[in-house]
Amino acid sequence: MKITESLHFIHEDKAFLKRQFNITRSYLHNAYDGIREAIKWLKTSAFQTVVKDLSIYITDEPINFPGELALIEGVTFQPIVYINVMSITEDFQNEEYRYDLKKEHVTCFEYAVFVFLHEVGHYVHALIGGRGASRKEKIFDYFDRGEYHYQRFVETMGNGETNQEKKRYRNIPHEKAADRFARQYTANVLQNFHRKEG
Ligand SMILES: [Zn+2]
Repeated sequence: MKITESLHFIHEDKAFLKRQFNITRSYLHNAYDGIREAIKWLKTSAFQTVVKDLSIYITDEPINFPGELALIEGVTFQPIVYINVMSITEDFQNEEYRYDLKKEHVTCFEYAVFVFLHEVGHYVHALIGGRGASRKEKIFDYFDRGEYHYQRFVETMGNGETNQEKKRYRNIPHEKAADRFARQYTANVLQNFHRKEG
């Protein structure tokens, strides 16, 4: 796994982050630590071989875009998990975990692990369930088969911001499966982490 970090704001002081982005610095750091812990876990998990060619890009740019499994087509085909700790923290502060983690009390650390593992879940499901000879074919096949549901969501969607719509989005089969993957393995990451902490 190749990990790239592009962090510009995370070390700014508390007052600046609050004033500029309405972000609580300690939450932001928890989110970052959660991602690093999840990566550490992934490297020794049952998925270590599946994810070994996956790139991870960690950023803190101030846009509302928490995570995505992106495909970069260059000379070589490169799947990459884009993960934004600033956006994850913002969603955490807005209690988005109620919809995706389906829990009332969650730490920002746990939420970040979940958001990250959701994207990893898409990748694992694509490689395991996608048809094709190469990684690229498998990933495209996986997304092709989800296309109908995403398309239907988009065609009937309003502004995408209401709670009802958030629930509907998470009911798309690919999303549900990725959420399930993330919920299950977030527990493992936390267990692992607490064991180490004593
Ligand atoms: Zn998803």
